[in-house]
Amino acid sequence: MSAPSWAATAQGLGTTRPTRSAHAGEEKLVTHERLLELARDVGVGLQENASLAPLTRLSIGGPTPALLTPQRVDQVQPLLRGLHSLGLSPRWLGAGSNLLIDDRGVPEPVVCTARLRREPQLEGGDRVRVSAGTALPGFTRWLVSHGLCGLEFAEGIPGSIGGAVTMNAGAFEGSVGKHTVRVILIHPDGRKQEHDVQPEDFSYRRSVFSSMGALVLEAVFLLKEGDPEELGRTLETYRSHRRQTQPLSEESAGCIFRNPLEGPSAGSLIDRCGLKGRRRGNAEISPVHANFIVNRGGATSADARALIEEVKEQVQRQTGVLLQEEVRVWSRS
Ligand SMILES: Cc1cc2nc3c(=O)[nH]c(=O)nc-3n(C[C@H](O)[C@H](O)[C@H](O)COP(=O)(O)OP(=O)(O)OC[C@H]3O[C@@H](n4cnc5c(N)ncnc54)[C@H](O)[C@@H]3O)c2cc1C
Repeated sequence: MSAPSWAATAQGLGTTRPTRSAHAGEEKLVTHERLLELARDVGVGLQENASLAPLTRLSIGGPTPALLTPQRVDQVQPLLRGLHSLGLSPRWLGAGSNLLIDDRGVPEPVVCTARLRREPQLEGGDRVRVSAGTALPGFTRWLVSHGLCGLEFAEGIPGSIGGAVTMNAGAFEGSVGKHTVRVILIHPDGRKQEHDVQPEDFSYRRSVFSSMGALVLEAVFLLKEGDPEELGRTLETYRSHRRQTQPLSEESAGCIFRNPLEGPSAGSLIDRCGLKGRRRGNAEISPVHANFIVNRGGATSADARALIEEVKEQVQRQTGVLLQEEVRVWSRS
């Protein structure tokens, strides 16, 4: 890793807080050196100019100047403290299953929490602590095998615990927030907080943690006892429903739009407007589920954005409903 490669690609250093340093180029090089040092000291993997597309389920997105991938929960606080002291404001990436990232990438460093996986820990019978990178469907199955129920609805939601808590992922009337009792957060300045969840912390596909801008490090779930065999059958029902109704073998970011609070779902509105199969470049409204955009191979963020705008415009014109994006869009501006 050489300093010039970072300096050449580090528009991200635009996120550096202004200092009195005389020369912007020198400042970038100093930050580059200090970032390498920080990653080394904390023991965290750092990839410079890393493409984000392979880290998303939609396979779209340009590079970040610095991709930082902690593998242990105890590395995150010193990492974020260090980034803050360098004046850098990173973004958080989980399993990338609800993200549409600009083809030009993002100027900020990205901290990926997907490797923060360790065996879930039972805390007094019906409480389980789990770290941010644990895969939601894997965790659901782990719970079922331990005779704990509550999260069966999450079978097949391909996110990480960090993303699922932040997004309050849900399906079939269930949602992650309903079972979360404590969230361990690291704020962007490196402050750690053990937050006891209040009912108002979660709403439809939203959480207070997202508006705080904090990184979700771990979560504690409160579950009920259940019969593993019966729960296993419930999982199979949900799994087969997904197989029949969603384009699971294709590259997508799940539902693009939030369901309106009343009336037909976003997918049903899009379908009624005759938009299934509509294409922009290589992005397509899935013929299987109208609220999914699939990447037919080489789709760009511009293709997907154009399709999103077209759907919004058509649905509003034909039904009067203005759809809102559920997918998180990382743009360059
Ligand atoms: C085929 C398919 C089916 C899906 N079905 C459903 C469904 O039924 N219900 C549903 O709700 N969703 C669904 N999704 C969307 C997605 O799986 C969920 O939103 C999931 O919870 C996102 O988790 P993630 O780890 O992939 O987050 P990412 O996509 O990586 O990130 C999403 C947001 O969460 C933030 N984030 C990620 N990790 C952290 C962290 N550790 N701390 C703080 N913020 C973080 C990111 O900054 C970003 O803003 C589906 C997606 C696909 C591809």
